[in-house]
Amino acid sequence: MSTNNSSRTGRRVTDLPEVKRRRRLENLLCTARRVAHLAAEYRSHGLDEQFQLYLLQLQVEQVLADEFPDEYEEHIGEWVEEELASEHHPMVTAETCSLCQAISAHKGGTASTPLAA
Ligand SMILES: [Zn+2]
Repeated sequence: MSTNNSSRTGRRVTDLPEVKRRRRLENLLCTARRVAHLAAEYRSHGLDEQFQLYLLQLQVEQVLADEFPDEYEEHIGEWVEEELASEHHPMVTAETCSLCQAISAHKGGTASTPLAA
């Protein structure tokens, strides 16, 4: 008796429905962008969390590269540019930086903050 496998290959199972795949891709792209942004900001401020964020960034990018190699290739260029754009000199306050915004909000921001009750 010979068991032949060729008869079982008739039906191909699609691993994930296209909709789910696209949603996963969008989430990953969004996360990758956000994490790269945060990593650049924390790096600009010389905070220790930058290393964790950097590792997280690498992990997200690795998942994207594994699961969506084409999209990864397509976006990696803009991410690098955006990441560089969100970095700033430690002595400079950047309007686009969420940490700078938080710091200036904490300091009271504008000099003439009305404290009327
Ligand atoms: Zn900043």
